[in-house]
Amino acid sequence: MTSASKKNKSTPITGLNQKRYEELVLLRDRLVAQLRVLAAEAFTDSDQTGKDLADAGTEDFLRNTELVLLGEEGKRLALVQEALRRLDEGTYGRCIDCGKRIQSARLDAIPYAKLCVDCKALREANDGIPPQDAQDAGAFDRFVE
Ligand SMILES: [Zn+2]
Repeated sequence: MTSASKKNKSTPITGLNQKRYEELVLLRDRLVAQLRVLAAEAFTDSDQTGKDLADAGTEDFLRNTELVLLGEEGKRLALVQEALRRLDEGTYGRCIDCGKRIQSARLDAIPYAKLCVDCKALREANDGIPPQDAQDAGAFDRFVE
């Protein structure tokens, strides 16, 4: 992942956002490290010979679990990257659907949250699909926190 397109007009990150930024960078580094391990495990060819069916079944199960985790962790990493970009752009902390401030208790729990609790609940009730007026803003994303 390269950050070739460094913008000149980035908002200075100060105060509470500085804290969030540091949190998010730490979280990103941790996720990247985890993903590296998971990917290495998931894509290593396993040697099935000489194992009975029960063992093979367990191994398949573990492998599938790793792939699911890879999906979850990868998804979270994408959300973290996005949050860092929003910090940079100065739009961090605002709900992408309604534009209101996201409760800071929520950001304490999930620093990469991009929806306020109300909008998150709305999306969950609507299978992850944002309200019609938010779709134009390119906010469509089934995987949100
Ligand atoms: Zn909202």
